[in-house]
Amino acid sequence: MSMQEYIEEAEQALLHTYNRYQIVLDKGRDVYLYDTDGIKYLDFVSGIGVFALGYGNKAYNDALKAQIDKLIHTSNYYYNLPAIQAAKKLKDVSGMDRVFFTNSGAEAIEGAIKAARKYAYLKDGTTDHEIIAMNHSFHGRTFGALSVTGNPKYREPFEPMIGNVRFADLNDLESVRSQITDKTCAILLEPVQGEGGIVPARPEFLKGVKALCQEKGILLILDEIQCGMGRTGYMFAWQRCGVKPDIMTTAKALGCGVPVGAFLMTEEVARNSLEAGDHGTTYGGNPLACAAIEKVLDLFEENHIIENVREVAPYLEQRLDQLKDRYGCILERRGTGLMQGLVFDGPVREVIERALENGLILINAGPNIIRFLPPLIISKANIDEMIEILESCIEPSETE
Ligand SMILES: *Cc1c(COP(=O)(O)O)cnc(C)c1O
Repeated sequence: MSMQEYIEEAEQALLHTYNRYQIVLDKGRDVYLYDTDGIKYLDFVSGIGVFALGYGNKAYNDALKAQIDKLIHTSNYYYNLPAIQAAKKLKDVSGMDRVFFTNSGAEAIEGAIKAARKYAYLKDGTTDHEIIAMNHSFHGRTFGALSVTGNPKYREPFEPMIGNVRFADLNDLESVRSQITDKTCAILLEPVQGEGGIVPARPEFLKGVKALCQEKGILLILDEIQCGMGRTGYMFAWQRCGVKPDIMTTAKALGCGVPVGAFLMTEEVARNSLEAGDHGTTYGGNPLACAAIEKVLDLFEENHIIENVREVAPYLEQRLDQLKDRYGCILERRGTGLMQGLVFDGPVREVIERALENGLILINAGPNIIRFLPPLIISKANIDEMIEILESCIEPSETE
């Protein structure tokens, strides 16, 4: 069948919740994807920050195949070896004390919110605690995660939300302080906002929020689902400025494609929040998912993934800055590590579509921002290749 015929079939069967780009992806190798017509694309999205190791990593694929033949699923009523190993390794790289595995990012946020509310409940016996989240944040599409997502457009049709959520501005400590009440149990933020437009939290801001939390007995929840797992040149973005959260969420690159997430907490929160019977999941942390996590964490070390991010990210910044200087339609470059955004003076959909026609996969973060989330194994040559294609997709008339 032709790609167009596949797309027509898809639109007959799938719920239309995405305006999809008009390609059917079929296979991946290294940092390239191929569609069903065999056309090759350089991938600067990695499945929205998921496929950090690149496609077709043999060691990763072999580990999954071996686990499939051994045991795919049990239940959380029993222990399994991959979950034990994955939890130990995740503790090591995060410095957190306790892990709960989920199936997705949104579900990790749900668990984090429940843990924070239970912690506050055990502390003062009341139930109407509040959470402060950030404007322009994104935490997922389930009700709890949506309730703390700072984009009214995503929330409005589905009101009422879970309630008792207040919003403050990222990088504005006074705005956070002004939302604190004696009911505040947690402050939730992304160390680098992803979906909301690639906006890094400033180290002084993170430190200020942490100090506020300590002063007022409020838990700090950091959402590392997009910015974590090496993307910023640190395993978790908060490690850059040493602002350790009480609760942390991760997902996306954690399983490098196997659907999995986790929320982690300090021993202090673990001891005084969720206990047996309070939370659960059928699939979360099953042997297949945890075999993926375990292998991903091993390969990060063996393949020096974070070192590669630190080496190539400054080059990506430099090349994007050059584009910004050359084209009047590009207003700003922002981001950190291999999580970068180019802010345009208008919608970027057409530029992204032209890039796709020229063999480059990019994605937006909001209508006017192109987001760059390449696999963490990219080389400087891949960056040159990306820039060359992207440049050919920006209208010459857009030059300053
Ligand atoms: C993607 C994302 C989520 C939601 O994760 P899902 O796996 O899509 O549910 C939550 N927080 C952040 C920061 C994300 O980027």
